Amino acid sequence: MAVLEVHGLHVSFDTYNGEVKAVRGVNFSLDKGETLAIVGESGSGKSVTAQSIVRLIPSPPGRIKAGEILFDGKDLTQVDKKEMYHIRGSEIGMIFQDPMTSLNPTMTVGKQIMEGLIWHQSYGKVQALQRAVEMLRIVGIPNPEKRVYQYPHQYSGGMRQRAMIAIALACNPRILIADEPTTALDVTIQAQILDLMKDLQEKTETSIILITHDLGVVAEMAQRVAVMYGGTIVETGGVEDIFHRSRHPYTWGLMKSLPRMDQKQEDELESIPGSPPDLLSPPQGCPFADRCPYAMQICHEEMPEQTKVSDSHQVFCWLEHPAAPKVNDLKVNIL
Ligand code: SF4
Ligand code: MG
Repeated sequence: MAVLEVHGLHVSFDTYNGEVKAVRGVNFSLDKGETLAIVGESGSGKSVTAQSIVRLIPSPPGRIKAGEILFDGKDLTQVDKKEMYHIRGSEIGMIFQDPMTSLNPTMTVGKQIMEGLIWHQSYGKVQALQRAVEMLRIVGIPNPEKRVYQYPHQYSGGMRQRAMIAIALACNPRILIADEPTTALDVTIQAQILDLMKDLQEKTETSIILITHDLGVVAEMAQRVAVMYGGTIVETGGVEDIFHRSRHPYTWGLMKSLPRMDQKQEDELESIPGSPPDLLSPPQGCPFADRCPYAMQICHEEMPEQTKVSDSHQVFCWLEHPAAPKVNDLKVNIL
């Protein structure tokens, strides 16, 4: 059963240089209790997609140009601000890479956890405070009884990340959107946070959208994967489909550059030569054509159609066309 369905999402940013088409026709669904990983390089549109779901793209300059985001039968692109505020407070939790973008510097961490419980879940103050302390303890903040009264600037970076997770999870959201939730953390804490998210998911059947460029995290957490490139999804499939039976040259490149959880990854993936398309004037054909060793003429001219490899696996690549040459015959050594 899908808890969330995204249909034909287009998101643009109006800049002095023109319209940046950050997301260009994205479709996916999220089932109850599953983790869907959205992977891709910086600028592929994965964060913008996530922020659009909860209507947190800065607007202006950002705007959802087209598409539907169905949650509980409601189109989230259409609900009013007040309802969206309620949905964010109680139904869809969020964790971002940079906690300072979502923590309020003028409010104690405890109050920020309590706010959602009081406003959206009719907790009394005492009860909410107890829950706030409990949440801080669950996410591994030392001295939660004392820390609950402190402000974000009194927390270390790792603690702020965990505080944000406590806020996001306090209300038992039905969907958790986690955008690079552990990227800034050291390996031990990263593993703890991922375990925490998994535990929560088992207990509450929360569905998770996990945005990451770290395929180690994907393997650890996700059941399904959507690979984004140039504002589009180029391949979706089960974890096994993507890791072992991928059909898209960009995904092959990603797999080759697989960052590992036990290595410190300072930068996003860089091992595929070339750079992503300029979304001010996106290519009319396949977004990967300029970097793809298999690119054919049609790749530069027309956006590839969706090919269904299996019920769980879809790919957008002209190599899947019956008339395309076989990859083995092309004798191109990818990357
Ligand atoms: Fe490469 Fe063409 Fe497939 Fe795009 S459609 S990934 S350019 S072969
Ligand atoms: Mg991002």
